[in-house]
Formats: sequence, structure tokens, C-alpha cells
Amino acid sequence: MSLLRDDPFALPCPSCLEIDGLSLRFDRRQRPFTICSSCGTRTFLRGRASMLGLAMLGDVIRELAAAVQTDAAAAEQMRQRTAAFFAGLEQRFAPPAPARSDLGTAVEPAREVAA
Ligand SMILES: [Zn+2]
Repeated sequence: MSLLRDDPFALPCPSCLEIDGLSLRFDRRQRPFTICSSCGTRTFLRGRASMLGLAMLGDVIRELAAAVQTDAAAAEQMRQRTAAFFAGLEQRFAPPAPARSDLGTAVEPAREVAA
């Protein structure tokens, strides 16, 4: 079975994995971009290199979606990977905890106002 479908413009969204979620559009300067009807992600395509993923990943995403629907182990693997990804995001982008010496300095003492 081939991984490649006949229609290269039937595009699943690489962000939310919605099958056929992407539509290819052109901006007012005739530059291509995609927009997902499900999650709203817009991807601006600048040159042939930025389109390689669109050309190749669609069928891979479809295979993944089909595997998750029919294979419990694949579904569990995806659930674990997704959970690890979001845990990593929270860890990477969480604001740093205040150092112990910073406690109590968040609010400056009131200043006297000259009359
Ligand atoms: Zn999407």
C-alpha cells in the first residue's frame, strides 16, 4: 500500500491533525498560505522549501489518524506523547519561581508624598 494519495491538495492540518482541515489560499500579493478550518492555524509558505512538508506530511498524518482509530496501542502511544509534549511546554514556558531572597520584594513599600 502506498503512503501517497492521488490528490496532493487534500491536506490534513499538521497542528490539530484534522483530516482535510487545510485549505490553500493566496494573500493579496499572491503568496500562498494555508488555513485550518478546525483550529484556525495559518501557515505562510515562503518558497519551495516551506512547501515540502505540505507535499509529504499529509499522507503520514492520515496514516497516523487511521492507526489511532484502529489500534489501541497506537492511540495510547499518541496519548502519552501528547501528554509529554504539553508537560514539556508547561515546564519550558512556566514563569520562573521567585528566588527565596526575592520573597517580600514584589510589593514596594509606600513612599511618602511631598506636600
Ligand atoms: Zn488545525
